[in-house]
Amino acid sequence: MSNDMTCEKLREIGAELALGILPGRERAAAVAHLDRCADCREYVEQLTLVGDGLIGLLPGCEPPVEQDFARFWVDYVCVGHRPLPPENF
Ligand SMILES: [Zn+2]
Repeated sequence: MSNDMTCEKLREIGAELALGILPGRERAAAVAHLDRCADCREYVEQLTLVGDGLIGLLPGCEPPVEQDFARFWVDYVCVGHRPLPPENF
């Protein structure tokens, strides 16, 4: 039961992560990886930006409602601070 997330694995699940459909445990591992891997962070940020409107490229990156994970990404990508995701994300 390793929580290790490799860059390779991260890139496999990146799309799911960006879309917010990754199961919580994997997502937590992925986010932990992103916290220490700038390359993957950039990769997922790109996925998020080109993804189907998770953040939506809103002017000023206004957070969408009813989307905890999207809000997390708005903080993460736009505001620039990186809160640890809650366990039950
Ligand atoms: Zn990585």
